[in-house]
Amino acid sequence: MKLPPDSVKVKLSISPRKIVELYPRMGLVEVTGKIMDVVEKEVVVEGVSRKVYEGIIRDDTGEIPFSAWDVEVKKGDVLRISGGYVRTFRGMPQLVFDPRATITKEKIDFEIKEIPVILESLEGKGGYNVLVEGVIIDVKKGSGLIYRCPECGRVLTSTNCPEHGKVTPAPDMRIKAVLDDGTGAAMCIFNREQTERIIEISVDEALRMVQENLGNPAVIREIIEEKLIAVPMKVRGNAISKEKYGLTILVKDFQFLDLENIAKKAEQMLQDLG
Ligand SMILES: [Zn+2]
Repeated sequence: MKLPPDSVKVKLSISPRKIVELYPRMGLVEVTGKIMDVVEKEVVVEGVSRKVYEGIIRDDTGEIPFSAWDVEVKKGDVLRISGGYVRTFRGMPQLVFDPRATITKEKIDFEIKEIPVILESLEGKGGYNVLVEGVIIDVKKGSGLIYRCPECGRVLTSTNCPEHGKVTPAPDMRIKAVLDDGTGAAMCIFNREQTERIIEISVDEALRMVQENLGNPAVIREIIEEKLIAVPMKVRGNAISKEKYGLTILVKDFQFLDLENIAKKAEQMLQDLG
């Protein structure tokens, strides 16, 4: 027997999912999570004014941006949302729901677990504020000292911006490095401040070093390669999935992994277990 789409039986068949399991176009889902952040917006759709609440919802496996249409949600609420769906927005999954979903307030809280996700699970869908662990296997061209258009921020290789014509390019630093965790790979983008932390060289010092090397910026990239290649790291950030570029992680935070320490800890744990 075929059931109409609004049938109660269909709603009952919605199975609960953890946030880490959500991927776009998987059908209707049930998610229980805590509203970490929310902003209210007024949107006019086909002449009708509607309220949309946008924010971040979290459970013990991860976080996902959400968009709630005509459903008021408040920061700190723990909600069981049954009948939402997942779409792709800005290269990441987003949970969407409206009054057709069954929404119930819950009294549970979530412990934040610092569990890395595997890169394979992010392929083709991306992820909001994910933690990944792996080894840097490559440092790409365009890493190190770069120059940007002071107007639009575009990376320039001459004093001409395709949009703004002749400009005085502003120096900046960044790293584009490939992180591999054995299941997949992602391009990690480290910004200026993070790059300065990694190589322990400021942009001003980098400029001086490049000058001393007859203007060859490769000297900075070589230092980055020495610091990063084959080095295990823990990286947190938004993983953007775009067909053309694959997986790109905009690094928010990172940490070098001390393998010796990890081995020692594991040994200690085994001893404690007797
Ligand atoms: Zn420009």
